[in-house]
Amino acid sequence: MSIIGWGAIIALLIVLGLVINAIRKTGNGQNNNNNDGHNHGHQHGEDCDHERADDSEFHSVHAGKDTRGGCKFNPEEVRRTRFRGTPPIDVSNLPAPDPRIVAANASVTIPGITHHLNILSGEVASVIRGKSVTIRTRNSHNAEGIELALSYVEDYYKSLGIAVKRVAYQVRGKTYYNVEAEIRGAVNPEKVVIVSGHLDSTVGSPWQNEKVAPGADDDASGTTGVFEVARTLKDLKLGYTVRFVHFTGEEQGLWGSYKYSDQCAAAKTDIVGVFQMDMIGYCGKPGNRVDIHDGEDRNGSHDLVVALTRAAKRYNLDLNVVDTHNHAVDNRSDHAGFQDHGWKAVLISIEFTDDGFDPNYHTLQDRVSAINFPYMVEIIRMTIGAVAEYAKIQP
Ligand SMILES: [Zn+2]
Ligand SMILES: [Zn+2]
Repeated sequence: MSIIGWGAIIALLIVLGLVINAIRKTGNGQNNNNNDGHNHGHQHGEDCDHERADDSEFHSVHAGKDTRGGCKFNPEEVRRTRFRGTPPIDVSNLPAPDPRIVAANASVTIPGITHHLNILSGEVASVIRGKSVTIRTRNSHNAEGIELALSYVEDYYKSLGIAVKRVAYQVRGKTYYNVEAEIRGAVNPEKVVIVSGHLDSTVGSPWQNEKVAPGADDDASGTTGVFEVARTLKDLKLGYTVRFVHFTGEEQGLWGSYKYSDQCAAAKTDIVGVFQMDMIGYCGKPGNRVDIHDGEDRNGSHDLVVALTRAAKRYNLDLNVVDTHNHAVDNRSDHAGFQDHGWKAVLISIEFTDDGFDPNYHTLQDRVSAINFPYMVEIIRMTIGAVAEYAKIQP
């Protein structure tokens, strides 16, 4: 056999190797798809036995956390969880209401919030990027739906003249986006207050491509709340930087906020507090109870509860602010990842009890018609007052 003959055989072997490699890669791709949780035969919304992203996808501070993404809310779980004693909150010696915040609060109106809620939850069409479209779902796996929602958020901040950008993150090799808008601080711009909510929605099977998922309370309400805080604070002189962050992938297990908090940690961002709003629109009984979850003062997060409680009192809002200290909620929303990294963070949310919780949660009935508008307006006003103080509003 000639040397040319050997060369041909070697070339053949190389080609064969490449073909085998390509076939193996295709096989892996199929395996990955199976891991997305589409064909496991169990009902994700009921048994919580889902395939979440691997721990190795996120910073080790989040390791081993059961985020219960997509899991049905179980009030029994809350009752079983012991409420711990909460430190008293001093609401004496309140300064007189700041007229700028009084004016800001007055500008938060039912028509104003209804506008955003209707568009985000698909009740009405909106012109997004020059086209009349309806956002029927904000499920993170529905590329078209979440893209419309992301664009709507970006367009909103652009219309206010607030700097806005998408922040990419990867989970299981796929790219997703959070949206971040920012008002720079006038005195200590390196210090950052975060006001946030999650943009995505689900009707109980977040690992599937849900074609309709209105998510009016969960969490178009929080998204709208973040919008309103940004709109009202943008013309005030704030000492610290305030960031308005809209997370995706929340319903899959806090993906977007874990990744965003990891990015902040890598950038050594000096975060002084995170105010997360997730479900602030349902209240089915008198008393207007709103729960603030601080993980039992984790990292000193109780400071934010104090700021919110004092703001509610100072601005004479019709709210019963409850400092819950109930650990059933610790990892149920996007404040969790920030607490994991050692920052102060709270979740602002509806009453988390068996007879107070939103019965439409994660269903097709989570629509604008079930929203308690006066209640939601008061929660947004409380957050405006607290964030203005926390971000050191200047005289
Ligand atoms: Zn939520
Ligand atoms: Zn949810």
